[in-house]
Amino acid sequence: MWLNVDFPTKKLTLHENTCIFIPSKESKHKGIYGFLRDGGWLYFDTRYEALIETAHKHPGFACGSCMWCASKDD
Ligand SMILES: [Zn+2]
Repeated sequence: MWLNVDFPTKKLTLHENTCIFIPSKESKHKGIYGFLRDGGWLYFDTRYEALIETAHKHPGFACGSCMWCASKDD
């Protein structure tokens, strides 16, 4: 699972590994495996780990699933 941590909007969005929105490289303000000014993309083996990370490190952030990923679920 990938978790997009977005500081400006205080949002955490979970993505499947196959999601088209997962960036292949860091952008100017968004990190991969770490944070830049606007947040970053973190990788987790499971949804559970991603949500634990969410609860402990980013209180007050809204958590949701990617719409594209959700459309791929069976
Ligand atoms: Zn997605």
